[in-house]
Amino acid sequence: MRRLVVIGNGMAGARTVEDILARGGAAQFEITMFGDEPYGNYNRTLLGRVLSGKESEADIVLNALPWYWENNITLHAGVRVDRVDKYSKHVFTGDGRVVPYDVLIIATGSRSYLPPMDGIHTPSGSLRHGVFTFRTMDDTRRMVQFAREEHHRRAVVIGGGLPGVEAARGLRSRGMDVALVRSGGGPAAILGKDRITGIRLGSQAALDCDMVVVAAGVRPNVDVAVVSALEVERAIVVDDQLRVMDEEDIYAVGDCAQYRGEAYGLVAPLWEQAAVLADHVTGADGSSAYLGPGRSLLPASRVAPRIQ
Ligand SMILES: Cc1cc2nc3c(=O)[nH]c(=O)nc-3n(C[C@H](O)[C@H](O)[C@H](O)COP(=O)(O)OP(=O)(O)OC[C@H]3O[C@@H](n4cnc5c(N)ncnc54)[C@H](O)[C@@H]3O)c2cc1C
Repeated sequence: MRRLVVIGNGMAGARTVEDILARGGAAQFEITMFGDEPYGNYNRTLLGRVLSGKESEADIVLNALPWYWENNITLHAGVRVDRVDKYSKHVFTGDGRVVPYDVLIIATGSRSYLPPMDGIHTPSGSLRHGVFTFRTMDDTRRMVQFAREEHHRRAVVIGGGLPGVEAARGLRSRGMDVALVRSGGGPAAILGKDRITGIRLGSQAALDCDMVVVAAGVRPNVDVAVVSALEVERAIVVDDQLRVMDEEDIYAVGDCAQYRGEAYGLVAPLWEQAAVLADHVTGADGSSAYLGPGRSLLPASRVAPRIQ
């Protein structure tokens, strides 16, 4: 048995493991996954529905914890990988574990981008009470709790993309008065000393609010790859087999992967990437190749999306 280690238990990491199992991977690999969120895998694209109260947290779970046990996968949920030693082939975790691998898959996804803004952080560097990003189940839970408090009535959501629109819609369903605004256009500041009282964006008049949601885009999570001396440009550079450039046994998939200059930040490309990667590491089809969204050399039946 070869040792397969996966860093990142989000939509791409878990989907790739499902595809590996579907190709007989259980007989080839001892599988270990690390995810720094303390959960199984859930459908991140549906967080807006949880925020608005249309779905529960349980409704959007894709792979609950028993799925990992049932498939003989060792999941370290809530454990972050800090770095990889690609020469000795080990990963090093934040809680002090050192785990060997034969094949490594990096699926660390993206994080919310925080534009420069006065008053956004506490002196210790964490986000100030009342400021939120919208990327994870924990972000969503914190926003729901904050919106429930009666004296919190007005929210400003920064960002016109899908997560921004969904955050605005969700908070409105929770009874908040929401302004959806675009970032950019000069220096920004969150106002108020002990609690948030408003936000000023560029030269526009300040908007009164009790909470601010920053949904101004994402950046690929490449810290582990950078400190481990892997090829990183905007994201981790991969070839047609999702193999990290110049590496034999390290792959990257999903939002953290950059293919022909593109890092997508969407789910559709990762279904194809996962299938191609699984074909390669299991040896199911050495000819399958990722050539960009909708263009992969791969029978369509192998990319049957279970979720859109
Ligand atoms: C609110 C919202 C709505 C969206 N709607 C859509 C949509 O409608 N359509 C669409 O195509 N896309 C949408 N997206 C984007 C989509 O969710 C992402 O493209 C997708 O989740 C990418 O999957 P991923 O596995 O690459 O990354 P992620 O799902 O982000 O998973 C990466 C995981 O790796 C973990 N991780 C990171 N670093 C480490 C580390 N060092 N050690 C251990 N674990 C680590 C992260 O905590 C995370 O759990 C939406 C995103 C959000 C937030």
